[in-house]
Amino acid sequence: MIGMSVIIDKEKCIGCGFCASMCPDAFELKDDGKAHVKGAGACTSCDVKDVAKGCPVGAITAK
Ligand code: SF4
Repeated sequence: MIGMSVIIDKEKCIGCGFCASMCPDAFELKDDGKAHVKGAGACTSCDVKDVAKGCPVGAITAK
């Protein structure tokens, strides 16, 4: 979402791909097997907070 700050805790991330499948414009999995923020402002169709809540290890902070 625009104006949103999204942080991924790389230590916690298990690379499950949930966030990237939910919001491919905002998240992507990279070669390190971890999710990366592609563009916090790229997500316009869903609420990043819902994606953060769905992360199985609580690695996403969105505020
Ligand atoms: Fe990593 Fe969480 Fe995204 Fe899964 S949903 S890839 S554990 S940040």
